[in-house]
Amino acid sequence: MNQQTLVLIKPDGLVKSLTGNILARLSESKLELVAAKMVRVTEKLAKEHYKHMKDKPFFNELIKYIKGELHDRRKVMAIVYWGPDAIKKVRQLAGETNPEEAEVTSIRGSYGRITTKGIYENVLHASTNPEEAEREIKLWFEPDDIIVDFYPTEIKEISKLKKRAWA
Ligand code: ADP
Ligand code: MG
Repeated sequence: MNQQTLVLIKPDGLVKSLTGNILARLSESKLELVAAKMVRVTEKLAKEHYKHMKDKPFFNELIKYIKGELHDRRKVMAIVYWGPDAIKKVRQLAGETNPEEAEVTSIRGSYGRITTKGIYENVLHASTNPEEAEREIKLWFEPDDIIVDFYPTEIKEISKLKKRAWA
């Protein structure tokens, strides 16, 4: 069954110049890349993305981490992969959450580390299940950013929308 999954190359992945390596490793999955963009992560987006972690003792550090405050690189690369068994395939290539427990040949096993403050810096995020993937993809992307219509959309008239535009 075709699935979609969100991948984020986290600020440590970017600062270590791992974008190419990570994309090359993920391409072993033969999944289709259907959306990609660089995102400056706001406090609101970071907290929404990690809302299920809010009771963890490391939550504040985790928010700083995904915002890029620990690496002075305030951006992440957000990507959507699509294809058969996408969620499992990407999680398998990514490896365990804890980079010390991840298989050494996995992406997290190869490039992750645990900081002295105890945060798992594991270079990428990958959705865990279809519900999480849907929530996360809708959080990080607009329908027109993605070239496959896997979630229903509708045309809405938005008249009072204020947005940044080219001057
Ligand atoms: P995953 O990213 O593998 O889905 P979780 O959703 O459980 O893992 O956690 C989100 C992120 O929080 C992890 O990728 C990691 O950066 C960090 N994290 C999770 N658990 C711990 C932990 N026990 N100690 C330190 N950091 C953690
Ligand atoms: Mg998770």
